[in-house]
Amino acid sequence: MNRKERILQILKEKKEATVKELAKMFNVSEMTIYRDIRELENEGKVKRKHGSVMLQTSENKVLKTVNTCPICHKPITRAHPYKITVEDKIYETCCEHCGLLLHKKFEDKEVSAITYDFITENPITAFNAYFVVGSDAKPCCSPSVIPFSSKEDAQKFSKGFGGKVLDFFQAYEEIVQSMNKSLRKDCCGTTTIKLSSLKKE
Ligand SMILES: [Zn+2]
Ligand SMILES: [Zn+2]
Repeated sequence: MNRKERILQILKEKKEATVKELAKMFNVSEMTIYRDIRELENEGKVKRKHGSVMLQTSENKVLKTVNTCPICHKPITRAHPYKITVEDKIYETCCEHCGLLLHKKFEDKEVSAITYDFITENPITAFNAYFVVGSDAKPCCSPSVIPFSSKEDAQKFSKGFGGKVLDFFQAYEEIVQSMNKSLRKDCCGTTTIKLSSLKKE
């Protein structure tokens, strides 16, 4: 049984546990547990509430209508998906990876965007967040993009799981370019991107 399966087992028995407790039980860092939890959360198996982790039961699943990601069409299972607001309309994506790609659609529009800190799950303005891009953590789409409100936490995370610590604008360029590359592989090599409304203040 791998660690994720054992976490599910524990939650079945105990009903809920904190990240701290789980880290102690498995003798691993809290970052490692956060990574497992985020993956389980995206698989729709657990949810987080008031600092505890618990199993996602079919009852509390029904309460939320399931939207699908406008970029990759996966069902959105996270409690706090990435959100972009454009002209009073809110768009949600399965994860930060697709969120950044969705920004490309709105690059000439006035947008705001909310992401949620990987550790605290507190909302952060995406433009102020730090992102670990391309780490071993694959909670959803690849290359993965994991948001942090503090640069130190992002660096700590990338020390353990690899990936680059980038600000919003850098992460946006990285993801858009990596997707262009994988879509057009050997074609010409350069792609131009218009980023007019995403300039940093
Ligand atoms: Zn998606
Ligand atoms: Zn995703």
